[in-house]
Amino acid sequence: MTTAPGITGKTKLLGVIGYPIGHSLSPIMQNAALAELQRHQPNLDFAYLPFAIKPEDLSKAIAGFQAISLRGFNVTIPHKQAIVPLLSQVSELAQTVGAVNTVWATGQGWAGTNTDVLGFLAPLKALNQDWSQTNVVILGCGGAARAVVVACDQLGCARVHVVGREQQRLQNFLQSWLEVLPGLNLEIHLWEETEKLLPHSHLLVNTTPIGMAPNIDQSPLSETALQLLPRDAIIYDLIYTPNPTQLLRWAADCGLTVIDGLEMLIQQGGAALEIWLEQPAPLGVMRQAARKWLFPQQD
Ligand code: NAP
Repeated sequence: MTTAPGITGKTKLLGVIGYPIGHSLSPIMQNAALAELQRHQPNLDFAYLPFAIKPEDLSKAIAGFQAISLRGFNVTIPHKQAIVPLLSQVSELAQTVGAVNTVWATGQGWAGTNTDVLGFLAPLKALNQDWSQTNVVILGCGGAARAVVVACDQLGCARVHVVGREQQRLQNFLQSWLEVLPGLNLEIHLWEETEKLLPHSHLLVNTTPIGMAPNIDQSPLSETALQLLPRDAIIYDLIYTPNPTQLLRWAADCGLTVIDGLEMLIQQGGAALEIWLEQPAPLGVMRQAARKWLFPQQD
């Protein structure tokens, strides 16, 4: 197992901003990747640091990053939307999602994109199937749900049902897609309507934090509700700790295909590293480092 790279007088900086940031797995994964790359390329001298930036300090922090020539950084809660007006260029994809999670320095200021969509898609694309007849149910309508909607649009899914707990928030969510994805077939529903959607849904995605540690006994759907899904349905939980969640344990018991959030996390991080270093990321090392950190007892 690789360790964090050594710091030298020539070390260039990468990082992640969020508030709080102490829970982030990105420094573990990215420094393992940088150490691995440096083993084969001694001149590749980078370190990746966590930066806890309060919302009111965001623009000062970004100006400071420019002053110290930070090469690039990831962006997590609560800055994914707020960073957008501070960038000189925003990719079309990030504009569609409405959020940026990866930023890099250019000669003309900061550029940003969104690698969550690619991260979410990676395990689904590996299944190599046709999605054109797929009805999707997305539980939750927050930031991660936005990346999932764009991903479902890219897959060409037949219809996307988004479930939320507040009608006005759902309406705003629906409204936000009308201009950016006019061809999207999206419907909104309150939670009490979920069960009637399940018999016709082949992909169900949990984007709520229900079931996330420490609330590991919770699940956004009951075991009985999961039995309403078709036998070939896929249950995708964006949560990566615990692993598996209660939702995925029950889904597996029902014989459904399950996907957890860890691969999305690794793939979005790998895609960011590729942008910064312009070379492939060592995904295997990143996966191993993340798993070792999350589940030390399993190794
Ligand atoms: P967010 O913007 O706060 O959205 C959370 C959504 O869940 C909101 O729609 C919220 O409803 C809903 N929700 C929260 N608690 C609920 C409850 N008790 N009952 C019903 N709905 C509830 O957060 P996010 O950034 O989208 O992240 C959501 C989850 O995805 C987190 O667990 C996060 O760790 C995970 N995630 C994983 C990855 C990965 O790489 N694997 C990436 C991004 C996010 P309201 O709108 O009504 O508040």
